Order: sequence, then structure tokens, then C-alpha cells
Amino acid sequence: MQLTDGENLYAIVRSAPIGICILDAATLKAEIVNDKFLEIAGKSREAILGKWYWEPFAEARAYYEKALTAVVKSGEPYYADEVELMLVRHGREEWIFVTFVYAPVKNDAGEIVKVAVWVLENTQQVKSRQAISILNEQLGNANRELSTANEGLAGSDARFRALVQDAPVAIFVLRGREMIFETVNDLMYRMLGKDNEIIGKTYAEAVPELVGQPFFELLDKVYLTGETFYGSEVKGTLTIEGKAKDGYFNFIYKPVKDETGQVYGVMCVAIDVLEQVEARKQLEQAYTQVRLSKEAAQLGTFDMDMLAGTMEWDRRCRELFGISHEGEVTYEGDFVQGLHPDDRERITRIIDDVFDRGKMNGVYDVEYRTVGMEDQRVRWVRAKGQVYFDEQNRPLRFIGSVLDITEQKQDEQRKNDFIGMVSHELKTPLTSLNAMVQLAQQKLKKSNDTFLANVMENAGRQLRKMTTMINGFLNVSRLEAGKIHIDPQPFTLDDLIREVIDELILGGTTHQIVMEDGPKIKISADRDKIASVISNLLNNAVKYSLRDTCITVACRIVSGAAEVSVRDEGIGIRQEDAARLFERYYRVQDKAFRHVSGFGIGLYLSAEIVEHHGGRIWVESQPGKGSIFYFSLPL
Ligand code: ADP
Repeated sequence: MQLTDGENLYAIVRSAPIGICILDAATLKAEIVNDKFLEIAGKSREAILGKWYWEPFAEARAYYEKALTAVVKSGEPYYADEVELMLVRHGREEWIFVTFVYAPVKNDAGEIVKVAVWVLENTQQVKSRQAISILNEQLGNANRELSTANEGLAGSDARFRALVQDAPVAIFVLRGREMIFETVNDLMYRMLGKDNEIIGKTYAEAVPELVGQPFFELLDKVYLTGETFYGSEVKGTLTIEGKAKDGYFNFIYKPVKDETGQVYGVMCVAIDVLEQVEARKQLEQAYTQVRLSKEAAQLGTFDMDMLAGTMEWDRRCRELFGISHEGEVTYEGDFVQGLHPDDRERITRIIDDVFDRGKMNGVYDVEYRTVGMEDQRVRWVRAKGQVYFDEQNRPLRFIGSVLDITEQKQDEQRKNDFIGMVSHELKTPLTSLNAMVQLAQQKLKKSNDTFLANVMENAGRQLRKMTTMINGFLNVSRLEAGKIHIDPQPFTLDDLIREVIDELILGGTTHQIVMEDGPKIKISADRDKIASVISNLLNNAVKYSLRDTCITVACRIVSGAAEVSVRDEGIGIRQEDAARLFERYYRVQDKAFRHVSGFGIGLYLSAEIVEHHGGRIWVESQPGKGSIFYFSLPL
């Protein structure tokens, strides 16, 4: 097992059907414990997590402490198979059977850094096996009674049958080499999908679907050799309610002997372990999937342990930071130093916030550049991760993965350059076209050709749209080049909002646009740019809601800043999209609105403009109900 398989692995561990507890090898403190482990241990998470292992398991210490210590020293795993153990579960002493492993976990350098404790509880299985031996004993007694006391067969047979009937496991007894069903309990009838009509029939007649599967041969062998057979997780296909159904069974075939030791039948005790087997298969599948997808995507993984103060990076993660050695890496020395100087401050600030549960709830999703320690290469990286906290909201662990997105970023850059260039080239003819259309409009005012006047009106509107679009593209490339210029001047915010609304209405709108009454707010900002932010939010509200619905604009003072909100009753935005809307070229993939055109730059530009003013932009939304976009500007 590799701990650094990241958050997916963590999720698998958490929901695994096997009890798992990960201990730090040096301190033996429990760092991760899953629900199944807690269930088997019969203790609370707080009682185990972060504690020295033998504190919660004091009752087992005398028996297993040596073994655990030896694992840490030797690096050899320790297996305990179906051992009986007294545990204090939920405050009560209980004797249980468990199979467990203390497995050492090594880092890339081969040092033992963790011990994984895997536990399966077998109490049920062992108890059913014990039930068999009791039954067998009873069977022997019954036989003995039968022969010695010369009692009527019916008496002891009935007693045995009652015993079988009440057993907590499925049982049948076959008599003779031809394997005639003699005694079958209800659990077994259910397992086989049969009823008491099988009594008196041979095995082959009673369950013909099992002929050809391994069971009959095994029964025959037990009959001939007199030796018990233990089957573990054997697959069998039975016909249940007319349909073939696969199952997995743990079973015991035990010869039934008379007082002379002569075998005269076979008893079978079985448990259905389908769920167990399937859960394990799923777990194995999930592991393989994680590993394969990690390899396919060339994902690197990191694992930071706040308790131990260590950080583990796998090979790919090291590669992305241009590190070729396998030695220890540190947050300050390798991670922070490996960040591109232009990204360093932003990323370390985000990480500080990620460690603050109240701020980001531990969710980490960023893009940054690294400069190779050894090769000095610049690489673009996308990192995604999760911080896990303890009950006191202290960060315990930070696990995640990193992906090389250099190629993608370069593509984006090329796309940007191209768009910038084309927009620039288009600007001149567009300006002339605008002038010509305006001129034509002037002339047409004097004529009474209403058809042509309408056409020109439309042409003018389309040209305005195109100009806004081209300006948007040009602004993006200016922004990229760090050339955006803020030209502040004093103005009244609500007047500007009204102007933008009027312009929209003039262009012909399909929605009801309402401006709420509010105070007159004077601010100093770049009037044109703020107008484009408001216009963009309004246009989006129109684009992403149905016609005739209402759009409400408000403007007020909140905590010393001017706050503008644009509310619509449209499609809304899912939480995961909301976080990314303000990224360049980000568009939500919504089937119903895929015909709505756009390039995903409006909100990006708006956010940049607002942030250049020292303000903030955000969205609150409920999918299906509508969205409210806000921005605030310092007064
Ligand atoms: P564009 O609208 O050109 O695609 P924007 O940057 O203005 O680009 O918006 C980005 C994405 O955000 C849109 O594609 C849309 O999916 C989503 N969006 C923006 N405003 C709203 C809104 N009011 N309601 C729902 N989704 C919106």
C-alpha cells in the first residue's frame, strides 16, 4: 500500500469494508482510522485518533506490543489469523475473533514511516465453525445413543434435526455415496433456493444446477477419504426463483461416521460470503483504478503530515519541481523555493487559507508555475488537494495531487496571442464600418425609406455587439500583458447603473429590469470600466434566464464599501462552477443553454477590473432558482 495515492486512496480507506488504522511508525500514534476499524474496536474516533496505539488498546497490549515493535524494527509484516481477543467494546468486555496484519509502510527511500493495521473480524465465522463441532458432537452422541441404547431412531433423529434447524448457519446432511438429502435446515433451503421436496432425493436430482461445479466431487472425496474439507470463498451458481445466481461460500464438508468409524454421510455447513467477497473485489478494483488513472494522467502526489512534520512527494511530483534526488523534501526548502517568484506569494497565501478550516474548508485547487530546482525549467502545474482536520479544527494532514499543464497553458497563450492579434486587426475596419453605418443612419433619417432605416438600425446594433466583443478580447490581451490602465474619476454609482440599464432597454430587452431605490453613492473609479462590469452582469442575467423574468439591480453601502448586486431568476450556477466562473474562458456546460453564445471572458474581465480597483466580486446562486452577482468597491 502506498499512502501517497492521494485523496482517492484516503476516501477508499475511509469507506473500506476492512478495518484500517494507520500509525506513525516512530510514535505509534494513530493518524488515520476508518469507520470499519472503529466498529470492530468498539471505540470512538477520539479515543483512537492521535493517541499512542496502546492507550485505547491497553487490554491487548500485553499480547501484541512485542509484535508491533518488531514490525517497526524489522520491516516484516506480522499476521495474526483468527486469534481470540478480549476487547473492551463500548465499555463492555467482549471476546471476539479477529484476523489482523501489522503491515509496515515504507517511503521511497525504503524507511518504515507508517504501520498499517488491517483488521477483519471473524467472530461470526469462527462461531459457526464451533457450532459445527458442537453439532458434530451431538451427531456422534445421537448415533451412539442410537446404537447403544437401542432406542427408536425417530427419537434422536428428531433431536438432531431440531438442533440443525436452530443452528445460525445453513446446514444439510447427505446420506450414502449417492448423497441423499436427509436433513436440511431453513437457512440451507434458502441458500439453495429449494424446499423440503429435496428430502430423499440424491444430490444430483435435488440440485442439478450444481452438477459440473466443484461441489459434488468434493463431497464424494470427503465421503471416500473421511477427511474434512474446508472451502473458502468458493464460487457457486445456484438457481434461485428460476434464475441463475452467482454466490460465494465458505463451507465445511464433514464426514458423518457411525460408531465403528465408518463414513455413512457428509454434513455441510455453509455461510454466504458474497458481500464480503464483492466488497473486497471492489476495494481491489478501486485500488487498481486509482493506480491506473494516476499513471495514465501522470499525476504526482504529495502527502504532508502536520503531526510528524514530514512531507512526502512521489517521483512524479519531484519531477514537476525539477528535483531528481530521492531524499527528504521540505515545505520551505523545496516547495516554496520551487515556486515561480511571481506565484510564490499568491500560493503561500492560499495555502495559509486552506489550513484555516473556516476559510476554505481544506479545499485546495490552484494553478502555478514551478522553476526546476536542478534544470531551471518553468512548468505549469495544477494542484488539487484536501486538508484533513481534527475535532479542534487543527490541520492533521494535507494530501493531494499535481498535474503538469504546461502544454495546456502554452496552447492558451497561443490562443490569446492569436485572438489579441486578430482583434487588433479587426478594430480599424470595424471603426470605419461604424462610422459609415452612423452616416447612413443620419441620411436615412431624412428619407422615408423605413425598411432601409430599420435595416441600418439593426446593422448598428450588431456592430455595437461586435465592438463590445472585440474590445473585450483586446482587454484580455492587454490584461495579459499587464497593460490595463485604471483612470479614476468621481461619479455617482446609481446614475451610472441607470444609464447602463437604459442603454440595455434601448437595445430592446426581453426581460423586466428593476432598479431598487437606494442611496446616492459617490465614488471615484474608472467610469467606463465599471460601466462595462455592470453591463456584463446585466447581459449575463439576460442571457442565462428565461424571457419575461425579472432582473433586479440594487446598490447600497455595506461595511464601508459600495456594493452593487444583479439578481436574476435564471438557471443558476452549481457550487463547483461558481468557484471557477471568474477564470478566463470558463463557461458552464449546460445543455439547455448551449445555444447562448459567449467566450467566457466577460466575468474574467469584470473580476480583473474590480480587483484592480481594490474591490471584490462574487456570486451567490441556487441552481434552478437564479443567481445574484455582487461586486463591491472601496469608497
Ligand atoms: P460568457 O457569458 O461569454 O460565456 P462570462 O465570463 O460572462 O462569459 O460568463 C462565464 C460563464 O458563467 C457563462 O458561460 C455562464 O455559464 C455562467 N454565467 C454567467 N452569468 C450567469 C448567470 N447570471 N446565471 C447563470 N450562469 C451564468
